[in-house]
Amino acid sequence: VLPGDNLQQSSPIPDTAQTDKERPTDSAGKAGLPRVVVVGSGFGGLNLVRGLSRGEVEVILLDRNNYHGFWPLLYQVATAELIPDSIAFPIREVVRKYHQVTFHMAEVCDVDLQQKQIQLQAGPPLAYDYLVLAAGSTNNYFGNETTARNTFSLKDVDQAVEIRHGLLKAFEKASLEPDLNRRKKLLTFLIIGSGPTGVELSAAFAELILPLVRKYYPALADVPPRIILVEAHTTMLESFPKGLQKKAQQHLERLGVEVLKNHEVTQVENGEITFKHGSKMQAGTVVWAAGVRASPLAEKLGIKLAHGDRVPVEPTLNLQDHPDVFVIGDMAYLEGYKGGQQSYPGVAQVAIQMGERAAKNILAQVEGRPMKKFHYLDKGQLSTIGRKDAVADIFNLQLSGLLAWLVWAAVHIYYLLGMRNRLLVMLGWAYNYLTYNLAMRIIGGASNRKENQ
Ligand SMILES: Cc1cc2nc3c(=O)[nH]c(=O)nc-3n(C[C@H](O)[C@H](O)[C@H](O)COP(=O)(O)OP(=O)(O)OC[C@H]3O[C@@H](n4cnc5c(N)ncnc54)[C@H](O)[C@@H]3O)c2cc1C
Repeated sequence: VLPGDNLQQSSPIPDTAQTDKERPTDSAGKAGLPRVVVVGSGFGGLNLVRGLSRGEVEVILLDRNNYHGFWPLLYQVATAELIPDSIAFPIREVVRKYHQVTFHMAEVCDVDLQQKQIQLQAGPPLAYDYLVLAAGSTNNYFGNETTARNTFSLKDVDQAVEIRHGLLKAFEKASLEPDLNRRKKLLTFLIIGSGPTGVELSAAFAELILPLVRKYYPALADVPPRIILVEAHTTMLESFPKGLQKKAQQHLERLGVEVLKNHEVTQVENGEITFKHGSKMQAGTVVWAAGVRASPLAEKLGIKLAHGDRVPVEPTLNLQDHPDVFVIGDMAYLEGYKGGQQSYPGVAQVAIQMGERAAKNILAQVEGRPMKKFHYLDKGQLSTIGRKDAVADIFNLQLSGLLAWLVWAAVHIYYLLGMRNRLLVMLGWAYNYLTYNLAMRIIGGASNRKENQ
């Protein structure tokens, strides 16, 4: 049973509506239409909403944030290259043009498939005719709470800003630290996990930290900063072709990143990293980029989850026995990637294309047509390594170096929402690349005040 009935009067969201007759008129004035509730306005959710905007449905879009985050450029916020606003776009600006879509900033905490309603953290239950879960993923620490508490992570804008503050504070602390070993520890930056996020972050750390120290912290000249990328397995960028993996490692090492493969981290506590084979290492800043799992909302469905706690879906993207409930993007588990048994990976293109297919399938049901299976057009994969190198595996072409970087830059600018954000990002890149200066070197904000109290 979902709580919240007592709050129904004060909620701005229409409370319940199983039948057209009972349904109250919502703020968009679309009474009588089937209601689609969408949880998450990321790559999957937003593209779904766009697809639904052509149909005769009422859409309520919910997100715990009031912005759509462009996560592929998040590492540049963490490394002080871009301002947070340039990779976040207000959701109300997107939905403004769709007359039947209403957005609410709200965290969804439970799903009741039998009653066909969801529960918000604050407010009454919200009934749906169709439900789409597109709440993305969260970090997977494989049950290790100590490591979770002692590492930075990079999943949203707040976490990126925390990394930025941690990074900049490390230099300030080191420049006041008389003990050589403690200075060395403060100037050791370790990234766990060598997927695209780990690779991009470690390259950006190297390209920005090394000149920063040389230019602004001459007192630290006796302790060269170390940037270490740690991988549990024998390969980095596992999903890329072997040749590109090798090139990526060469690029990283040229930038000054130490790559440690075959080093599984079992614990991180007080800046001490313990590896499975017994050795230990000290680092002042540790970032966890080693694993993801579906949003905890997946557990609320009460069904058996697949690898990474993802929700198994039918090829039409709805739950088995629930044609009215769709799960898309990072939350969904569907096999068939590259025509085989592999599940579709947690990347933006999969979420975008699943959003488009789920929208078509909902409208098909509303209009009494059969649903169609999800077909994926694989546009390839890209990973940048610093400010002028990248590796790209696109449309059967394998590129590396500057050409791959230009492809990477063009793709990211194209998919970024909003002209203002595109201009801000391009301006930020031009400024950083020409001057080697960081855009955001201020340590400030609420988190800093709390720490200084
Ligand atoms: C740092 C980083 C770098 C990445 N780089 C790339 C890349 O270069 N290329 C690539 O293809 N992919 C990349 N990805 C992966 C890509 O961003 C995801 O695959 C994609 O965002 C998945 O889309 P989604 O719609 O499933 O989830 P998301 O885009 O993550 O959106 C989920 C939304 O749900 C909201 N939400 C979550 N829980 C709740 C709740 N309980 N209630 C209400 N709202 C909720 C969140 O606020 C968020 O807005 C990267 C991811 C990260 C974190």
